[in-house]
Amino acid sequence: MNIHEYQAKELLKKYGVQIQEGIVAHNGEEAEAAAKTLKRDFDSDWCVIKAQIHAGGRGKGGGVKLAKSPAEANEIATKMIGMQLVTPQTGPEGKKVHKVLVARDVYYPGPSPVKEFYVSILLDRTTGRNVIVSSTEGGMDIEEVAEKTPEKIVKEWIDPLIGLQPFQARKIAFGLGLEGNAFKEMVKFIDCLYKAYEGIDASLFEINPALKTSDDKILAVDGKVNIDDNALYRHKNLAELRDITQEDPLEVEAGESGLNYVKLDGNVGCMVNGAGLAMATMDVIKLSGGEPANFLDVGGGANAKTVEAGFRIIMKDPNVKAILINVFGGIVRCDRVASGVVEACQNIGEINIPIIVRLQGTNAELGAKIIAESGMKVYPAILLKEAADKIREVLA
Ligand code: GDP
Ligand code: MN
Repeated sequence: MNIHEYQAKELLKKYGVQIQEGIVAHNGEEAEAAAKTLKRDFDSDWCVIKAQIHAGGRGKGGGVKLAKSPAEANEIATKMIGMQLVTPQTGPEGKKVHKVLVARDVYYPGPSPVKEFYVSILLDRTTGRNVIVSSTEGGMDIEEVAEKTPEKIVKEWIDPLIGLQPFQARKIAFGLGLEGNAFKEMVKFIDCLYKAYEGIDASLFEINPALKTSDDKILAVDGKVNIDDNALYRHKNLAELRDITQEDPLEVEAGESGLNYVKLDGNVGCMVNGAGLAMATMDVIKLSGGEPANFLDVGGGANAKTVEAGFRIIMKDPNVKAILINVFGGIVRCDRVASGVVEACQNIGEINIPIIVRLQGTNAELGAKIIAESGMKVYPAILLKEAADKIREVLA
């Protein structure tokens, strides 16, 4: 699960991570009031207005702007809220901005220059350990740094059994070239950040930039936080942070029906029981000359209801030119699935695209018979090759 920057910062703060303070605003007046409050608390007229969307690259897309007075904060926020913000990470359709974070300007001049660092924590699946990734080259071009000068990206793996060791936090801070108070602040920053990562069962933290201010504090200026969906059951308060306006509407609908659905941009919709079989089915679609329009795992106990919900979701995608249903009747019997498919088609009514149903396993022949005799434009298949040939035929 993805959350907004302002929510991420609130969570980090609870774990003692120092952040760039800010106040959320839903319109220009709220932004102006927020800027005035920040001015009172921090004694500076300047603040940044930051679009709250579930995507990064906002700086490059015009979603992060400096305001030099509360009136200007109002003006910028008014323009930003309601816009469809396009960044290098949103895709061409962009994401709608419903709120902004009015944050304190933390790039103020002082005794030593400000510096942007990159710090992230994620699970390294090859080693089965968390890894803290850091770089002196923080800021908006970290992807380019990773590509052109990968040696500037440093990794520190953490043993999950013993956790982050103090020497490791010091090693990271040293690697970032820090000394004196900034060094100590970074050690504390890394320590608190790691505690937060473990505490909320995150699967990704990306703090870019982590800023060294001109008075040698280390602050999280940005915060990308992904929470492991499988751990949400033990964090009821975190589940509430979900903002479905930022998610794909079809994926939200699928989630409500208990389906594992990921929208893709191909032309062959597919419905499968089991994630592994779904992946293999997508391969078959590609090998047959099609492109998968989605990943959809209806789970082990596929019945008429889940099949119908899956159908409806697939058919809402205008790119879909054919549907492939691939079910292995292990726990569920093929004749039951076949009846479910027929029933779902009847309930939905007019379906103008070819549907290929491949049923294998218990009662596969009976299932194919039910499909064939239903009188609908549904092609039965038992072998995967038959299904693949049929896709090739209907797409031609
Ligand atoms: P992202 O582009 O979505 O990653 O958004 P960030 O929160 O990382 O902000 C993008 C950029 O805006 C940062 O790299 C900074 O250069 C700039 N920025 C963020 N906060 C401030 C601030 O308080 N003052 C100034 N002057 N610039 C800021
Ligand atoms: Mn950033």
